[in-house]
Formats: sequence, structure tokens, C-alpha cells
Amino acid sequence: MKYKRRKAECCVPNCALPSFCYGRCHAHFFDLKSNHISEFLRLKAMSHAARKIEIAKTTVPREPQPWEYEPSPEKISELIAQFGGNGDAK
Ligand SMILES: [Zn+2]
Repeated sequence: MKYKRRKAECCVPNCALPSFCYGRCHAHFFDLKSNHISEFLRLKAMSHAARKIEIAKTTVPREPQPWEYEPSPEKISELIAQFGGNGDAK
């Protein structure tokens, strides 16, 4: 597995495909266009920034992966060595 920065994903829950258009993957974008035309037109009428906010609202927050919030003990001592820590860590 590669530790690449994650690209935007489809905002439909349980769909982890890459985002294609309007925050949706290819399939879900066409599903929206053909089955939810009013929602599609609503998104279409929005500015890019407003649409981004709207898509963020429908995106289910993902659990952070361990490597995103938990540095290894080696990494912590490396950071303390680099920045001096808080002074009372001996
Ligand atoms: Zn999708």
C-alpha cells in the first residue's frame, strides 16, 4: 500500500471511488444526472465555491488513519531533538 496523499473521493457514502465531477465518482455523477435531476440542476446553478461547501456537507467524515494522527516514538524524539520539546521532558 502506498502512503500517498488521498485525492478527493466520491461524496456518496460507502463509495470510495475518486471524485469525477460535483464531488462524485463517474457512476454516481451520472446517477445524479439521470435520477436526481433537480439536485443536479441545484448543484449546477451554484458557484464553484458554493458547490464545494455543499459537497463537503454531504461527505461523510472518514475515520483518520493511524499514520495521520499518531507519530511513532522515534518521530516524537526526533521532533523534540529538533525543536527542543517543552523543557521538562528529560
Ligand atoms: Zn461514487
